[in-house]
Amino acid sequence: MKLLIVEDESKIGDYLRQGLIEAGFVVDLARNGLDGHHLAMTEDYNLLILDIMLPDIDGWQILKSIREAGRNVPVLFLTARDTVDDRVKGLELGADDYLVKPFAFSELLARVRTLLRRGVAPTNNTTLTVADLELDLMSRRVVRAGQRIQLTAKEFALLELLLRHRGEVLPRSLIASQVWDMNFDSDTNVIDVAIRRLRAKVDDDFEPKLIHTLRGMGYMLDQQEE
Ligand code: CA
Repeated sequence: MKLLIVEDESKIGDYLRQGLIEAGFVVDLARNGLDGHHLAMTEDYNLLILDIMLPDIDGWQILKSIREAGRNVPVLFLTARDTVDDRVKGLELGADDYLVKPFAFSELLARVRTLLRRGVAPTNNTTLTVADLELDLMSRRVVRAGQRIQLTAKEFALLELLLRHRGEVLPRSLIASQVWDMNFDSDTNVIDVAIRRLRAKVDDDFEPKLIHTLRGMGYMLDQQEE
């Protein structure tokens, strides 16, 4: 497994590289955005670890370029600011996960391993699955326990988003920007209503329940022990 780290702070870069090499990965380290951009566009990696704040080409631009070039390598971005804006922007630009600095190396390693597991052959696999729920991206079919479920376009997009971020709490603002393509902090009622409708279709008549409300935080889809 070959990883690319793009990080201009040499102490952090060296520390990450060393730790990941010890964990058994092959690691390239780019110390500025220009080199990072070049490597990310020309070499094949299993995962990119991308610092956002870089002096020349920043992490957002690198992320944007690689996605526009159709490269679907998993990207974990590192941000110094824990703001919803940054997280939303990163996920909108096609990042898969993020960490807020400072973080523990063990945390980074856990995220890296999760992304690599998730990243196995994503291109041919058009089905997202959890428990007995299946969503087929190509045929746009949703099936639970063998039963076909009819969803509206918005409900489908919402379920797809939840499935893609299985086990992660998604704030309403993120759901709003991803599914409704708009920013609204005040009127989250639209999302709650859509979630209720989605639940009625995919959860009400089935066990276990998959869509969970985290009060004051957002929604999460996962198969949990009751
Ligand atoms: Ca930096």
